[in-house]
Amino acid sequence: MPEKSKTPLYLIWHSAAEPLTVLPAFSAMLSEFDLIRRYFTRPARHADLAVGDDAALFRVAPDMQLAVTTDSLVAGTHFFHDAPAGGLGWKTLAVNLSDLAAMGAVPRWATLALTLPEADEGWIAAFAEGFFKCAGQYEVELIGGDTTRGPLAMTVTLFGEVPAGQGVTRSGGQPGDDLWISGWPGLARLGLMSLRNRVRLINARRALAALHHPVPRVEAGLALRGIAHAMLDISDGLLGDLAHLCECSKLGALLDARALPIAPLIETGVDEAQARSALLAGGDDYELLFSAPRQKRNALAALARKLDLPLTRIGRLAEEAGPILLDDGTGCPRPLGVCGYDHFAPGA
Ligand code: ADP
Ligand code: MG
Repeated sequence: MPEKSKTPLYLIWHSAAEPLTVLPAFSAMLSEFDLIRRYFTRPARHADLAVGDDAALFRVAPDMQLAVTTDSLVAGTHFFHDAPAGGLGWKTLAVNLSDLAAMGAVPRWATLALTLPEADEGWIAAFAEGFFKCAGQYEVELIGGDTTRGPLAMTVTLFGEVPAGQGVTRSGGQPGDDLWISGWPGLARLGLMSLRNRVRLINARRALAALHHPVPRVEAGLALRGIAHAMLDISDGLLGDLAHLCECSKLGALLDARALPIAPLIETGVDEAQARSALLAGGDDYELLFSAPRQKRNALAALARKLDLPLTRIGRLAEEAGPILLDDGTGCPRPLGVCGYDHFAPGA
C-alpha cells in the first residue's frame, strides 16, 4: 500500500470575480489523488490502460458488441445516509451487473464516479472493499472514474461484451411465450419496509441481505442467451418492469396469481397480501424477468437446478397487444394497474 503523502495536494481555484484561492481538494490528511491511488487503483489485467491517465484504453474482441450501462445510487433517494458503506460499494456495481446480465452480456470493465461529502477514510475503505469484492466475484476491472466533493452519490458505468446480434432485448417477446422470473422478487422491498418499521419481520436476515447485498444474476443472464426471447432485470417492481417488456414487445400479458412465488416472502413473517404486494410492486430486486417459448420449459427447469436458483413460470404473454391481466383462479382475469417506481411521478 502506498505511503500517505506528507504534503497534501491542493486545488487552485480562480475566477475573474474572486482572488486566487487555494482550497484543499478533500482534507489536508487525504487528498483526492491519495484517495484514488490508495483505494481505487488496481493493476490493469484485461484493459490496456486503467486508472491513472486521462482515459482508459481497452479492446473489444472481434465479432463482439460492446454493451454499456450506467446506474446511480443517490443518498436519500436510493439509500439511507447511514446505509453500511460496504453494502453500498457492493450494490453500486451489482445493480449495473444486473443490467448487463439482462442483456446476456459478459461484464468486463467499469468506471466509478464518486461524490463524497468528506474524505472519511473508514467509510471509503469499507466502500472500496465492498466494491472490489463484487468486482472480483464477477471478474470486472475498475478502469477509471471521477472523485468529487458533494452530496453522497455514486455512479458506475459498466462495459461488457455480447456476441454481435445476440443481446437479449426487451422487445423480442413472442405471442404466447411463457413468462418467468428468477429468485425471490419482493424480498428487498420487505427489507426496506422493516427498516422503515412498516412491517415487523420475524426473519429479517434474508430480506435485509436482498436489500443491501443484491446478487446480480450474471450466470443466469448468460445462460438465457439463446433461450429467452425478451428479458429485463426487475429494478422498479415486477409489474412496472413487465409493463416495459410488454410495451416493447407490443403484447399484453396474463399472470397466474397462484404461480407467484410468495411462500418465501411469507416465511419472513408477513401476510399473504403484503407478500403479494411486495412481489408485484416492490423494487430493488435485481432479479431477471424473461419470456421464453413453451418448448424451453425442460431446459429452464434443468438450468434452475444447475444454477441452484429458482426460475418460476408466472404466466404468459398474450397473443396480441393489451393490458396485464391477473388470473386469480376465479375464471375472470382482471386488469392490473401499473405500479413501478417512477422518480418523476407526482409524490415519488
Ligand atoms: P481528470 O482530471 O483527467 O479527470 P482525475 O484527476 O479526475 O483526472 O482522475 C485521475 C485518474 O483517476 C483518472 O484515470 C481517473 O479515471 C481515475 N479516477 C478518479 N476517480 C476514480 C475513482 N473513484 N475510481 C477509479 N478511478 C478513478
Ligand atoms: Mg476527473
